[in-house]
Amino acid sequence: MPDPRPTLSSCLILGGGINGLLSALLLRQAGLDVALLERGATGRESSWAGAGILSPLPPWNYGPEVNALARRGRALWPEWAERLRLASGIDPEYRACGMAVLEVEQRDAALAWCDAHEEPVAGLPPSLAHWGNHDSLWLPNVAQVRNPRAMQGLRVAALRAGIALHEQTPASHLLTEGARVTGVETPSGVFTAECVVAAAGAWSGGLLAEVGHAPVIAPVRGQIVLFKAAPGLLPGVVYRRGHYLVPRADGHILAGSTLEEVGFDQSTTAEARAELLDFAYRLLPALRQAEIVAQWAGLRPGSPGNVPTIARHPVLENLFVNSGHFRYGVTMAPAAGEVLLQRMLGMAAPVDVAPYAWGL
Ligand SMILES: Cc1cc2nc3c(=O)[nH]c(=O)nc-3n(C[C@H](O)[C@H](O)[C@H](O)COP(=O)(O)OP(=O)(O)OC[C@H]3O[C@@H](n4cnc5c(N)ncnc54)[C@H](O)[C@@H]3O)c2cc1C
Repeated sequence: MPDPRPTLSSCLILGGGINGLLSALLLRQAGLDVALLERGATGRESSWAGAGILSPLPPWNYGPEVNALARRGRALWPEWAERLRLASGIDPEYRACGMAVLEVEQRDAALAWCDAHEEPVAGLPPSLAHWGNHDSLWLPNVAQVRNPRAMQGLRVAALRAGIALHEQTPASHLLTEGARVTGVETPSGVFTAECVVAAAGAWSGGLLAEVGHAPVIAPVRGQIVLFKAAPGLLPGVVYRRGHYLVPRADGHILAGSTLEEVGFDQSTTAEARAELLDFAYRLLPALRQAEIVAQWAGLRPGSPGNVPTIARHPVLENLFVNSGHFRYGVTMAPAAGEVLLQRMLGMAAPVDVAPYAWGL
């Protein structure tokens, strides 16, 4: 039987966030020569800024397109965390720490969702029970990773795998001829490869605008405040009505996040700081004694329904996109990479790839 898979030997990835780097590693593993162009330094944008919760917030508020990628991504993360640790020596601090969801609006419907989706659910553990169990739920399988470490690990793993990382190299134009992309223009010259994958996060829409059919991807700013407390103050993630606290193993606690449509403005604001501090202090008064270490902002690649586009361009046969993961790009990345490989190489993907098609 002839191999039905299309054969590709080289690929150029545009964007070095989690989705670009992880796609690059998977394509390299599949035997391709891979080069990656990154406008600044890899892993310094949304993928660095995120909280690293490996779950939708909360999962029952989302449709199957989001949950299929999120659940598959979460299932693959322990393996990826170990792979990155071994390849780079940097531990991304994957921890199945669990997540408390407080003030659940329709608790019975949420419980039914968990039951139908085999998502383990319980009452709050004793250390969190003071928040009250009548409208709360505990999801013990929710895990987290520490974004900056995961991104450093991915960078080192990519270099060691032989991926050519070109940092400080923005893709400025896609050169086309007929139904193909023939090269990518940058200030350091034109790069060529058999195929091109756009993985430029919030900037993907702008990058693809000139070739037509650009997916709807727009920046949505998120801000976070970081505390340093004693390790063990909080056992797991706590989510309440749009805000969360995420405890790291060494005692850092992230309070997030805002959802702001302010274009490509990455500034932090006093309003967001006040909003996040108010939430954090009400939920965990002990944080009043903790040092505030930092506040930052990142631009999520916002998309309608939080559904990314992971597909081939409708006209240009060697152009692909893996972008628009919005609020859950870290959770989804391992599964999104599988969908991309299905689209590019015909490899098996455990999730249905149809919802991530590139619309006309
Ligand atoms: C405050 C906040 C909290 C979050 N919390 C979570 C969470 O708890 N869990 C979760 O799963 N997700 C979370 N997210 C979302 C998640 O971080 C994103 O969905 C994910 O990082 C997107 O990854 P990406 O690789 O697509 O984009 P990015 O990480 O933004 O990477 C895109 C890269 O492309 C580069 N680039 C742009 N234009 C060009 C160009 N022309 N040429 C070359 N390179 C270019 C950029 O410099 C950047 O490095 C959060 C995001 C924020 C901001």
